[in-house]
Order: sequence, then structure tokens, then C-alpha cells
Amino acid sequence: MTEKLLLHIGGQDVPAADGRTFVVHNPATGEPLLDVAHAGRSDVDDAVAVARAAFDDGRWRSVRPRDRARILNRAADRLAERVDDWARWETLQIGRTLREMRAQLARLPEWLEYFGAVAQTAEGTVPEFGEGYLNVVRRVPLGVAGLITPWNHPLLITMKKLSAALAAGNSLVIKPSELGPAVPHRLAMLLEEAGVPPGVVNVVTGFGATTGRALSEHPGLGKLDVTGGTETGRVIAANAGHALIPVTAELGGKAPVLVFDDADVDQAVAGALFAAFIASGQTCVQGARVLVQRGSYDAVVERLAARTRELRLGDPLDLQTQAGPLVSAAQRDKVAAAVDRAVRQGATVLCGGRVPGGEALQRGWFYEPTILTDVAHDHDLWREEVFGPVTLVAPFDDEADAIAQANDSPFGLAASVWTRDVGRALRVCDQLDVGIVWVNDHHRIDPASPWGGAKDSGLGSENGLEAYHAYTRPKSVVVNTGADRFDWYATTGDLRYS
Ligand code: NAD
Repeated sequence: MTEKLLLHIGGQDVPAADGRTFVVHNPATGEPLLDVAHAGRSDVDDAVAVARAAFDDGRWRSVRPRDRARILNRAADRLAERVDDWARWETLQIGRTLREMRAQLARLPEWLEYFGAVAQTAEGTVPEFGEGYLNVVRRVPLGVAGLITPWNHPLLITMKKLSAALAAGNSLVIKPSELGPAVPHRLAMLLEEAGVPPGVVNVVTGFGATTGRALSEHPGLGKLDVTGGTETGRVIAANAGHALIPVTAELGGKAPVLVFDDADVDQAVAGALFAAFIASGQTCVQGARVLVQRGSYDAVVERLAARTRELRLGDPLDLQTQAGPLVSAAQRDKVAAAVDRAVRQGATVLCGGRVPGGEALQRGWFYEPTILTDVAHDHDLWREEVFGPVTLVAPFDDEADAIAQANDSPFGLAASVWTRDVGRALRVCDQLDVGIVWVNDHHRIDPASPWGGAKDSGLGSENGLEAYHAYTRPKSVVVNTGADRFDWYATTGDLRYS
């Protein structure tokens, strides 16, 4: 029995104007789960018009920042009460294990709290304009923001964008991924329960090529904010460029995990395992290239392979399961094809590299956690994002070699450095061409800490004061405070300042 999910526009749940729907399947079983309204161009037009009206009449942007923060805090409290239920929904839709979804969702109220605090404490500036003038610069919201989000962390990524956007006073139209739309939709309703006026947060569900395209090409937007694959980001950023509106784009990655000889081997192996395989490797910052200094290479690789073979695949709702299925049959096939191509190009499969046996696992879209060796820098597997439970291991000689290999990638999102030498850690962090580096850790995130990449990993960043600023623009008011009247044309001759 599939549940229905409608569009959310102007505080109402409504079907698509042409009545079209699509089905979301449970990746662990292949069974249909949700029948979802498929928004067409006219539904997107409606959502943007409603959001614009909500912006223009000031029902949210004119609310005092302190009161906006109160509402966001109330929403945070309500979200905290729903974590277990919503985590289950995330698992049903995307197959990521319930233990990971619970851990992730339990942190999300912090985003509403943090950006509520930012809204209350944000200040304008008073630049020195010169004698006889007062220049006040305030930051004002941008209007209607179009948020286009992926499936791999449906609520986390929606929350990162939404909490900054709402705190700054914008209205929103959210286009969640077609593979994980349920929880972002519930969030819109929760925010209204907490006091966000109807029309401020609207959700249009549908595919990228239809609904996403209609939203990203809409002339009524003041900002586009996308998380997705690099090619999707290029298309959306081009639309933003055409419309001359700001864009934030959080895109793909191929994060290196650098393990130096002086690192504790067990800790580094646990770290590499965590980096490579949480969410079955379907994270943008996945540790996809484990680079190990020659002195500990054999020990690290042997232990990493042994621990990878022990990971428990299975029903993602079972709290004992450590690795769930991939999100879709297409994703599983893409991962399998990437491994097969790597082998044809000369790579060796150290462990995994196949669809697991067993009836229960055959029903869903599972793939064994996989480690490859002998991957050269010009192989596709070194350069392209796989987005699945696949990592490569390769040796390096010294710091310079580690940095050169790590930076040899079209992406520049994240990296981790495993060493007990503080000086080395800081030297290496300095030279890595990425947006986020962890030392002796991986994957950690906080609403106050900027999250964004270099090179093909995107533009701008989420989280922190920068994300808040990126949802505003400066408005400069210049006041003539002089007592004297002035008449520009009453004099002739040289106008040089004295
Ligand atoms: P995707 O690019 O297929 O889709 C992302 C979103 O864009 C979806 O809502 C989709 O419907 C929409 N979309 C697709 N084509 C579009 C188009 N032409 N116009 C408008 N919208 C379009 O990505 P995905 O498979 O959902 O997510 C995985 C990707 O996201 C990976 O590449 C991953 O690295 C990246 N990601 C990046 C971050 C980050 O913070 N940098 C975080 C999570 C995921």
C-alpha cells in the first residue's frame, strides 16, 4: 500500500495541476513506497508566485529577527520530538541505515537554533563616508530562493540551506530529490505549525529534468542553491548566471584520506572505514582515495580489507545493520559498472566488487563494500566520483608526494589527514586544495562551520556566517547630514574637491 505525497504550496497540500504522479521505491526491498505528485511548469509558477507574494507583503521578512528566531527554535523543539519517526522515513526511502539516520537527524535542530541566533545578532555596518554624511549598510533578504536538493541526506541538506535562508527573511521553493521527497515535505508543515506563515516555505516534488529545470529557469527567483552532481550544478549555475542571481552549488567530490606512517594504525583504519563506507559510500565527502605512506601501507591495507569484509549488510531498519542498499537499481548498476571498468583498466579488487548473494539482499539494491588497488591517476576510478561503497588504496612516499597525489583530482571538496605530528598536519592542511580538511577524523559537520568545495566541487558554502550572508545582499543608505543647502549647478568652473 503506497502513501500519497502532494505538493505543498501556500500552506496547502495540492496535487499537480495535470494530476501526474511518480512512485518512490524502497531500495531495501524494491517495493513501491510513495505515490508522489509530479510538479509541472505551471505548479512551479504557482509556487514561485505564492512565495513572492509572501515576500512582498512582509509576512516573514518583516517579523523582528528575535521573533523569527523564537519560531525557528520552536521548530527545532518539534523536530527533536520527531527524529525517530522521520529517521525511519529517511531509511525507508533511501536505504541508509536507521542507526545512521537517527544519529544524523538528532543533530538537525541545531541548524535552526544556530541560524536563529545569527538572525538575532547579525549587524549592519557604518562605513566612513566622510564629513557631512552617514552611511548605513544593512543586509536585506534576496526574495524567493530556489532550493534544489539531493537524495543522499534528504533532510540534512534541505535543513542547511533552509535554516540560513529563513533566518535571513527569504521565502522558499524547495525541489527535493525525486528519490527522497517525504521528509522535506514534512518539514514545511512542521515549520508552519511552529509559526512560519503559510506561503513562505513551498515544496514542489518531481524530477530534475522537469520540475528542477522549471524551477532553476524561473525568472522570479532571487537566489538558487543546489546540492547535487557536478554536471547538474553546472546547468543550474548557468541558469543563475543568465538570470544574474547568486548561486550556491555544493557538488561532487573524491576525498583523499592521507594516512602517515606515524598514525596509530588501528585508529587510521577505523577512520578510513568510517570515511569510505558510511551511507554505503553515498556521501559527497566519502573517503574515496585512501593514500597510505609506504612504511605502514601493508599493515593498513590488510586491516582495512579485513574490517571491510566484516561489515554487516542487511535490512537498514535493523539497528545491527552497518551497510544498507544503494538508493536505486540505477545507482547500483552505475557502481558495478565503475568497478568493472576499473578492473578493465588494470585495477585489482582487494575485497567486495560484486552484488552480494542471499535472497534477502538480492531483493534490494545492495553492493558489497569494495576496495581496489593498482588504480593509476589516469584511470576513471581515480578521477570520477562513483558515489557508492567503493574506495581505492594507493601508497605515497613523503609529505610532498601525499599532497601532490591528493590534489591530483578535478574535485576539491574535502580531505582527512591522519598523523600524530601537529606540525605535519598543519603543513599538509595548508597545501590541500579543498574546502574542508579533518585532522584525525572525517565527515564531522557543525552549523557554525563552513561547508563548501574548490574546483569542480562547487561554488560558495553552506553553514556559518557566510551562508547567512549569502542569503542577503547589502543595502547602502547614504544620508546627507550637512546643515547647508547645496545646488550643484549654481556654480561653474573646476569641481575638484578642495
Ligand atoms: P543529482 O545531481 O542527480 O540531483 C540533485 C538534485 O538536482 C535533484 O533534486 C535533481 O532532481 C535535481 N536536478 C537534476 N538535474 C537537474 C537539472 N537539469 N535542472 C535542475 N535540477 C536538476 O544528484 P543526486 O544523485 O541527487 O546526489 C548525489 C550528488 O550530490 C553527488 O554528486 C554528491 O557528491 C553530491 N552531493 C554534494 C554534497 C556537497 O555538500 N558538496 C552533499 C551531498 C551530495
